Amino acid sequence: MSTSHQPKKSLGQNFLHERVYIERIVQAVGPQPGERVVEIGPGQGAITLPLLRHHGALTVIEFDRDLIAPLTAMADGVGELTIVHRDVLQVDFTALAAGTPIKLCGNLPYNISSPILFHALDHAAAIRDMVFMLQKEVVDRMGAGPGTKVYGRLSVMLQAYCQVQPLFVVPPGAFRPAPKVDSAVVRLVPRDPAGVGIEDRARFAEVVRAAFGQRRKTLRNALAGVCGPAQFEAAGVAPDARAEQLEVAAFIRLANAPA
Ligand code: SAM
Repeated sequence: MSTSHQPKKSLGQNFLHERVYIERIVQAVGPQPGERVVEIGPGQGAITLPLLRHHGALTVIEFDRDLIAPLTAMADGVGELTIVHRDVLQVDFTALAAGTPIKLCGNLPYNISSPILFHALDHAAAIRDMVFMLQKEVVDRMGAGPGTKVYGRLSVMLQAYCQVQPLFVVPPGAFRPAPKVDSAVVRLVPRDPAGVGIEDRARFAEVVRAAFGQRRKTLRNALAGVCGPAQFEAAGVAPDARAEQLEVAAFIRLANAPA
């Protein structure tokens, strides 16, 4: 694609150019015949073009108007590219999937990567798996376990609904312009909703948010007004523990405990 496009910082535009990482991402996405693949933020097509060559058909969601015509031209004669020109946070993945779970992928705009992850969780039943590139620091938080410094709301929310598999690290030099930080690629595989065991998603989100809102406090204090003594007891959770020590299953038990 033409290089006349000036990267827009406001849209998190750091374009991948190192072939070795592009190939590893395409391999990680690994679409099988008949699967539908949706890429978030195709940009100048670094991942789009090889995916399209490999798979023959692809849907992409791109917000930057200036990239739509070049993407259309790039796909000409290569494969069937469907371009959704919208803010990804406004895209209904469940409607897009139309009954057949999609594979989601993308080198995400880092400024809105967490909102995109939470948006995807809202549509987890419509998603087969996700392969995303994000800041390495965010991937570390996504996969962290209890008792570590980076274990937090993002870790618990993602691990409750998905298997989180960090794949590999990508250095700043692989992008133009180079970001200031390392990046990493992660695979997320949504769990079977029946097996997750969360009775009320909004309640679960509320408990996790409150618990980590004041992570230095005991759960008794951090969850004042959200969970009472009977709920701690029913969940088998010590009220003087701290959120950062609690495993994901314990958060689920707390949220499910009757008032
Ligand atoms: N996939 C390309 C690559 O790897 O070189 C570009 C990745 S760049 C980090 C992020 C892309 O997401 C850009 O193309 C940007 O325009 C797009 N983007 C930013 N905000 C968006 C939004 N809200 N909805 C859809 N796309 C967005």
